[in-house]
Amino acid sequence: MPIRIAVIGSGPSGFYTADALLKSDADVEIDIIDKLPTPFGLIRAGVAPDHQSTKRVARSYERTAQDDRVHYFGNVEIGGDVTIDELRDCYDAVVVAIGMPGDPPLSIPGGDKEGVIGATKFVGWYNGHPDFANFTPNLNTKNVAVIGNGNVAIDVARVLVKTTAEMAATDLPGPIGEQIQSAPITDVYMFGRRGPVEAKFTNVELREMGQLENAVAILDPDILPDEVTGDWSDRDKRLRERNLKTLREFPDIDPGDKNKKVHFVFYAQPVEILGGDTVTGIRLEKTTVVDGRARGSGEFFEIECGLVIPAIGYALQPFDGLPVDEKTGCVTNDDGRIDEGFYAVGWAKRGPTGVIGTNKPDGKIAAAQILEDISEGVKPGGEALKALLTKKNVRWSDFDDWQTINEAEISNARPDAPREKFLSMNDMLVVVGKA
Ligand SMILES: Cc1cc2nc3c(=O)[nH]c(=O)nc-3n(C[C@H](O)[C@H](O)[C@H](O)COP(=O)(O)OP(=O)(O)OC[C@H]3O[C@@H](n4cnc5c(N)ncnc54)[C@H](O)[C@@H]3O)c2cc1C
Repeated sequence: MPIRIAVIGSGPSGFYTADALLKSDADVEIDIIDKLPTPFGLIRAGVAPDHQSTKRVARSYERTAQDDRVHYFGNVEIGGDVTIDELRDCYDAVVVAIGMPGDPPLSIPGGDKEGVIGATKFVGWYNGHPDFANFTPNLNTKNVAVIGNGNVAIDVARVLVKTTAEMAATDLPGPIGEQIQSAPITDVYMFGRRGPVEAKFTNVELREMGQLENAVAILDPDILPDEVTGDWSDRDKRLRERNLKTLREFPDIDPGDKNKKVHFVFYAQPVEILGGDTVTGIRLEKTTVVDGRARGSGEFFEIECGLVIPAIGYALQPFDGLPVDEKTGCVTNDDGRIDEGFYAVGWAKRGPTGVIGTNKPDGKIAAAQILEDISEGVKPGGEALKALLTKKNVRWSDFDDWQTINEAEISNARPDAPREKFLSMNDMLVVVGKA
């Protein structure tokens, strides 16, 4: 009998696991289960809409999904529609590839005010994730504060200041693009607790901020160090030198008649979100960096703003039966092994770090462990899952359904855009007759 494996989550780590299993000589059947009818996790709902070339990696996942030994079960939430114990009863091995789809709290006074919107939620919204179909952020503000110095912070700032023309060939949903363009936003502040050397931007993303059609990158050149000091590997040092060079060039770029500004504010840690029920500003403390850590200086300043977007990390959304390591915030695992026949990969396994390709080794490790632990399948697999879903009245969608949704999105696209995303689960399921 084939070894029957369920992979929960159809993001990069789920697909790399399936791919590694297919490439082995073993007799395997793999069911990829996702709560959405649309596969590919953060490739669809995280990677910025104006970075279409990054999203092309999904083509290789498509080939994996079309292998006869692979089946897609969309619209099935583990922990909701099906419990983990029920799933483990059906499969010889279960792989958790659910990512880290939550926002950690902004733990400063006022961090829960209306107008503080975590980056996961904000990015999910502008990427048309159906979890946010009924969410509309209030963009009626001139100033926006983005907290964080990584690529997600840059993505958010860029999407907020790019012009309609710059966003034309993207899959930013039309109504969301209109909302952003009609907002009075002129200034986006990106606050980093530490300095430009410690910032985690990659250079391509940073350089883009100096090439925007209607926005200038602003920073105080006096805070830029002459050289990269500290304990970095050669590679990390080179990356940081490149970023410093890019930042040094920003003040020399002719602002022309550009109307918007993205302010890079380093050495500033947020200490309070100001306002009544809703945000009216942010108070920050200037810092210095000692041994790589930000240390408050006792000097404070405030910026008026109506929207604060913390891009400060991610949180697991565990379901009953999934052990969580309180210290790391990840699924409790030993290099991917959770329990007998139970494995973790990707962000759920090791936290939100690295690039898409960083998930590939996780898949290979999990595949090797499964084949080492299980020599022959004994569980019924997908047929048992189908029976369970039918009994529970859960209408799952398959990969053909995704392709129907995909074609409909492509044919609904405005000129130049790759697709017009459906924004709600219902709209997706109507297209495939499963609403
Ligand atoms: C905003 C943002 C932008 C990024 N941009 C880039 C970039 O430009 N380049 C780059 O290299 N990397 C980028 N990354 C990182 C990259 O997206 C991640 O490395 C990768 O997506 C992690 O893969 P994963 O499989 O662990 O999780 P995910 O991609 O999050 O996939 C998890 C999947 O699990 C499903 N799921 C969750 N819970 C359940 C459940 N209970 N039942 C069923 N299904 C469930 C979800 O629907 C989802 O499809 C970005 C990340 C973010 C957040």
